Amino acid sequence: MNAPTPTQTRQRSYFVDNVQFPFCKGCGHTQVLRRLDEALSALNTPAEQIALVTDIGCIGLADGLFRDIHTVHTTHGRSTAFATGIGLADRVLAGKDLRVVVLIGDGGAMIGLQHLVHAAMLNVPMTVLICNNFVYGMTGGQGSGLTPERFITATTPDGNITPPADLCAILTGSNAQFVARTTTSDTNFPDIMRRAFASPGFAAVEILELCTEYAVPKNELTGKMLAGIAEQNGWALGVLRENASRAPFHVRYAEAVRTSATPKVREHGFSSAPHAHQLAGPVSIVLAGSAGERVQSSAAALCEAAIASGLYVTQKNDNPVTQGSGFSLSEVWISPEPIQYTGIERPDIVVAASEAGLRELTSRGTMASVSDDTVFVVDESLAVSMRTRKLLPLSLRKSLGPKDAALGGLLAACHEKNVLPDETLALIARYRMGDRAKVCEGMVFSV
Ligand code: SF4
Repeated sequence: MNAPTPTQTRQRSYFVDNVQFPFCKGCGHTQVLRRLDEALSALNTPAEQIALVTDIGCIGLADGLFRDIHTVHTTHGRSTAFATGIGLADRVLAGKDLRVVVLIGDGGAMIGLQHLVHAAMLNVPMTVLICNNFVYGMTGGQGSGLTPERFITATTPDGNITPPADLCAILTGSNAQFVARTTTSDTNFPDIMRRAFASPGFAAVEILELCTEYAVPKNELTGKMLAGIAEQNGWALGVLRENASRAPFHVRYAEAVRTSATPKVREHGFSSAPHAHQLAGPVSIVLAGSAGERVQSSAAALCEAAIASGLYVTQKNDNPVTQGSGFSLSEVWISPEPIQYTGIERPDIVVAASEAGLRELTSRGTMASVSDDTVFVVDESLAVSMRTRKLLPLSLRKSLGPKDAALGGLLAACHEKNVLPDETLALIARYRMGDRAKVCEGMVFSV
């Protein structure tokens, strides 16, 4: 992304026509949003390439003030986590260039501190504006983890006796690419915004500002006092870190995948389409068995092969809290088209590889949702009577052993339903089972 130079002219505004700011008179949020709009306008980014992620709090009202840009209003403290997901999906999966902006207050920043730290460590491209007015404004002016010492709030009526955290120091220590602290009264505020938006990775700007409803009357605060508050609390102002040389996450990820991160894929030959698939429509699969019997990794192997064959997949896993006992289950969609919804109401394929798996299928209602056309593969030891015409009892556990029973059943069902070519299914069996693959192939392809 190219940063605008100070002499570049303002191209447009992203605000709705005749924008009315909903904040109390003199609230610093209005100034923050004006500076944000100016910074975005100077960049002249198309509106559809901007995602604004807002947190709970008065600043969260910003969504409705902008026109055409993407907006996501999130739960308290989690805006950075949502932004991380959006940024990674956009850069890593789609290879696009979305400009992600986070608006969060001091309360949300401290509630979701780990999300900020992690986004900084990953160096996901985004600009986080932390609007620090020292209180939870929306809920009545309670103190936050960034409330200065001696500050009077609803929860510290005699003055705060706890030194506040230095958020910028935490983010600098988390290797953030760009960190700055400013105030709404600072003449350098626009320039700091410009530099933050020029950062190719994670950029955070903590903006000290006024909550005129709660912080100002109780502390006789003015805008000119904000810099003094920073000084009293040991908070440095200005650009505190600017490390342009640190590569953003998606760049390092692409490099890792290109070099050494794919030995497993190469090993079993799924890095390119093994054999052309003939799948005409989406197929939903529920695979159930026992913990420790490679249920979820079998589903993953099928998914990897499907991806390598040019198909779209989703996989959702479930198991009890106790990882090594009870059931293990995977829900999989495989489709020639993008998958918009990952829920499974009427499965096309169900596999029950063990008693524990069958019990779980019954308790979650999967058995009741089976239709006449569902391919239902079960271990022959299980007592199942279904209305489906395609109930296939197989010697999964006895012939293949407990650790390959789920995979054997899955491959048999996929063969029956023509999900992937037999050559690809055989490749999965060989990769996962080694010498036992022949037994599996004999069973699968005689279905
Ligand atoms: S309560 Fe405080 S933060 Fe909220 S709009 Fe009013 S002045 Fe701004």
